[in-house]
Amino acid sequence: MQQITILGATGSIGVSTLDVLARHPDRYSVYALSAHSRVDELAAQCAQFRPARAVVGDAASAQKLTALLRAQGLNTEVEYGEAALCAIASAPEVDAVMAAIVGAAGLAPSLAAARAGKKILLANKEALVMSGQLFIDAVQENGATLLPIDSEHNAIFQCLPHAYARAPGASGVAKILLTASGGPFLTRDVDTLDAVTPEQACKHPNWSMGRKISVDSATMMNKGLEVIEAHWLFGAPAEQIEVVIHPQSVIHSMVSYVDGSVLAQLGNPDMRTPIANALAYPERIDSGVAQLDLTAIATLQFTRPDYARFPCLALAFAALKTGGTAPALLNAANEVAVQAFLERRIGFRDIDRVIAHVMDAVPHYAADSIAVVMAQDALARASATSYLNGMMR
Ligand code: NAD
Ligand code: MG
Repeated sequence: MQQITILGATGSIGVSTLDVLARHPDRYSVYALSAHSRVDELAAQCAQFRPARAVVGDAASAQKLTALLRAQGLNTEVEYGEAALCAIASAPEVDAVMAAIVGAAGLAPSLAAARAGKKILLANKEALVMSGQLFIDAVQENGATLLPIDSEHNAIFQCLPHAYARAPGASGVAKILLTASGGPFLTRDVDTLDAVTPEQACKHPNWSMGRKISVDSATMMNKGLEVIEAHWLFGAPAEQIEVVIHPQSVIHSMVSYVDGSVLAQLGNPDMRTPIANALAYPERIDSGVAQLDLTAIATLQFTRPDYARFPCLALAFAALKTGGTAPALLNAANEVAVQAFLERRIGFRDIDRVIAHVMDAVPHYAADSIAVVMAQDALARASATSYLNGMMR
């Protein structure tokens, strides 16, 4: 029996993870769940999955959760805050940690899981984008296992040889081909993009996801973060990673080899497939996802990305090439800008303007320690906030 902690249990990935776990009560039990503020949902999950521990964002939420649980006769231990998140990610009872908190808030607990040598199922791409080599070092030095949940990276993982050791050349890999749907604005008149609403930006054609990653998909910053994520996960330089627009989201990504072979992983766009793959790896288990019917899909299309339409993609490639703390600055500026867009404080195209400003205004350094990364994250947030406040005046 494997004991699982889910960080971000009430989110889109968290809920899909619990759906897969519920299909295999003989293999998995839930050790701990976390949520930031959706206390009612977390209480319902605790009633169904009976974790030993539950973590929320603050004392008031913890008090409310405790009352809800005790009223149902549940004695789940309730805690709150970052130290508690790190504790449920690293507890000796835990075999695997689903890292599914959105944004930089997931870095500390994901890193705690790495330092404790856990199996980490990584959905929280922002954590890896920010900390890069520091995260990979923590995984390797502590004998942790890092398995990608992002559908593209899980696809690439499946298309690489089993003994792959983060050295593309040694395995005959020519290129990593990251597919991208292009999001809801792939063909919309570029001149009308400034007027799009958060609702339109969050209406992804193929995937149902949290609001932040949905906006990232509309700007294609999501693909940019994924390029950086692929660089760290697979040890591939930027030149070896290519983005291909594939609007159907049936091919989740590909690996091309020096002999001309291209291996692809296909499936219906449902995150339960990569979640089940990583949970059971190297075995295979039922995920609840229907088998792919290629004849019903009939057509698969591919085009090159348009960097003028999607400047965030170019900004992300530039940050990867710059290196050091540049990806951490990019990520922090993006989080602030997306939040402001979701709150209708800035327009859609202002997102890339804010990020470009921060990348110019804040100097980057070598990413020597998590403390440096966190200091740069804070500087980028301050710079982004003051710039967008100026925009609104
Ligand atoms: P979501 O917004 O649906 O859920 C986010 C979860 O994080 C919630 O449980 C929330 O309670 C928690 N959370 C939010 N802010 C927090 C904070 N400050 N401290 C602690 N917890 C906090 O997001 P999601 O779509 O499930 O995405 C989660 C992560 O997975 C993101 O990094 C995203 O990029 C990645 N991802 C998601 C998908 C998808 O299909 N949804 C696909 C690939 C990767
Ligand atoms: Mg993805």
